[in-house]
Amino acid sequence: MTDLLPYTPDTIARAAALIAAGQPIAVPSETVYGLAADARSGEAVARIYAAKGRPAFNPLIVHLLDVEAAAQVAEMSDAARALAAAFWPGPLTMVLPRRADAGLASLATAGLETVALRVPAHPAMRDLLAAAGTPLAAPSANTSGTISPTRAAHVLATLGGRIPLVIDGGATGHGLESTIVAVEADRLRLLRPGPIGMEALSAAASMPVEVAGDGRIEAPGQLASHYAPGKTLRLNARHAEADEWLIGFGAIAGDRNLSPAGDLVEAAAALFDALHEADASPRARIAVAPIPADGLGLAIADRLRRAAAPR
Ligand code: AMP
Ligand code: MG
Repeated sequence: MTDLLPYTPDTIARAAALIAAGQPIAVPSETVYGLAADARSGEAVARIYAAKGRPAFNPLIVHLLDVEAAAQVAEMSDAARALAAAFWPGPLTMVLPRRADAGLASLATAGLETVALRVPAHPAMRDLLAAAGTPLAAPSANTSGTISPTRAAHVLATLGGRIPLVIDGGATGHGLESTIVAVEADRLRLLRPGPIGMEALSAAASMPVEVAGDGRIEAPGQLASHYAPGKTLRLNARHAEADEWLIGFGAIAGDRNLSPAGDLVEAAAALFDALHEADASPRARIAVAPIPADGLGLAIADRLRRAAAPR
C-alpha cells in the first residue's frame, strides 16, 4: 500500500519518520522525482534497489542540504567550492573524493572512494533533508528500465505498492536529470550532460572541461566507477580452500557472513564492506557462497560476476 500525500509539513514529518525507520520514499526534486533513503544506512539503501528492481548496483547520488554538509562527506577543492557557489542549490552533481570519515553506507557509493553529491533546490526535497537530518541517497523514483518520473502519478505507475509514501509536489521543473561532473585536480570531466552546460561549468571552475570517455558520453553505470577487488574471486563456493577468504551467506558461515539469516537486504548492505575486507585479508584469493538469484540477489550476483571476471 503506497500513500500519495500532498507536500505539506505533516507529510514531511511522516516522510522523515519513514526515512528514520530505514524506508525509501518518493519525493520531488527540481529534476525528476527521487526515491530517497538514509545514505548512512546500508539496509535503507538496499531497499531502494529492492523497490526499483534494479539488477545491478550503481553508485547513487547523495543529496545534502548545503555546502557545509557536503564538506563533511567529501574533499571540496577550490574548484568544487566555486562550482557549489555558482550552481548549488541546483541540478549539478559533483563526483568528489569521499572523506574516510564520511559515514556513508558503502552500498550508496557502490564501494568507491569517490562520492556523487548534489544540493537540491526543490523545497520538498530540502524540507525532507532538514527533517530527516541525514544525507539522502536518491536515484530516480521508477522501476528499472522505465522512464524517469516527472509527476507523482508516474511514480505510482511503477512503484505503487512497493514503497510506503509518495510526496506529491506537482510536476518537476527540469524534467531532466542533473548534470554530473567529476572534479579533478586540473580539469572537469562531464559524466552526464544535463541542465547545466559545459561552458558554464568551465567558466565557474576556471578549468577546462572534457567529455568523459573518448568523445562520447559514458552510459550511466558504465563510468570508470566500478569497484572490484584486486584478488581473484570464486563464485558458488561451499567451502574455502586453504588460501581463500570465504564470504558466507545463510548456513555457509565463511570468514564473514553477509547474512546468517539469509536476508538479501542485509546481504546487499554488507556486500561492499565484505569485499573490501576480503581484499585486505591475509589470504590470496576470495570465495563467495551461493546467493539466491532473485530480487536483490540478482544485483548482488551481477556485482560478484563482474568481480570474478578475468581482468
Ligand atoms: P541516478 O541516481 O539514477 O540519477 O544516476 C546517478 C549517476 O551518477 C549514475 O550514472 C552513476 O554511475 C553516477 N555516479 C554516481 N556516483 C559516482 C561516482 N562516485 N563516480 C562516477 N559516477 C558516479
Ligand atoms: Mg534513473
